[in-house]
Amino acid sequence: MAYYLAPSLVKLRDQINDRWPNRSKASDGWIGDAAHNARKSDHNPDYASGGVVRAIDVTLNGVNMAEIIAAVQSDPRTSYFIHKGVIRGEPGFSARKYTGANAHNIHIHISIKHTKAAESGQAWKLGGGGGSVAPAKTPARPKPKGTAENKSIQTALKAMGLNVGVIDGVNGSMQKAAVKAFQKHHNLVQDGNWGPVTQKAFTLNKAVQSALKAEGYSKQGVDGYYGDQTAANVRDFQKRTGLKQDGLAGNVTLKRLGIK
Ligand SMILES: [Zn+2]
Repeated sequence: MAYYLAPSLVKLRDQINDRWPNRSKASDGWIGDAAHNARKSDHNPDYASGGVVRAIDVTLNGVNMAEIIAAVQSDPRTSYFIHKGVIRGEPGFSARKYTGANAHNIHIHISIKHTKAAESGQAWKLGGGGGSVAPAKTPARPKPKGTAENKSIQTALKAMGLNVGVIDGVNGSMQKAAVKAFQKHHNLVQDGNWGPVTQKAFTLNKAVQSALKAEGYSKQGVDGYYGDQTAANVRDFQKRTGLKQDGLAGNVTLKRLGIK
């Protein structure tokens, strides 16, 4: 029998993709694998109800998780969600420690209720209207220590054409503003800190630019900033390799570039 992802979750995934087009999909998923098949999981098709799959996983990297949580938690279709070792579900969505094998540290798992109404594909309240909910506590990341690390961050930002003032290795207002500009351009949370998510976007951008250069699609430098030129080069690569020309380095394009 055929199986399918519930239209409500298709809609949620589409909205998330629209809102954060550069997000990572490395840990995305919906259909159960062998490990899931062996146990009860909303990732397994419910063939008694026509083959519906009632859960998706959305990669944490490159999205605003608080916004997703707010949208999911305020929607009557949601049954529960898990991320970073915390499960929240009905009733009340209060946080409980998740003791399952997979702590869901790199993605958020979202399950809808086992009702027909929960499958309906109307829009979720993503990007406003969902209220604000604090994300599950993440371990505090130590601030970049020492001037050497900040100097290299400042040098990288400057190479992207962002204004960091004097390269002094001090994480001051100029560095924060430049990091925020980078984060804004890449649809990341604008906290002004060169944290793991920002660093990952930068590293992935560089990988894309290097690969394009190696393939002869780029004459620009490898600066880690996904600007108009990079998008144009990606489009050119997509055109010549028969891919959808959206200028975005999505999973298929990354794979074709030999990155994922
Ligand atoms: Zn899952």
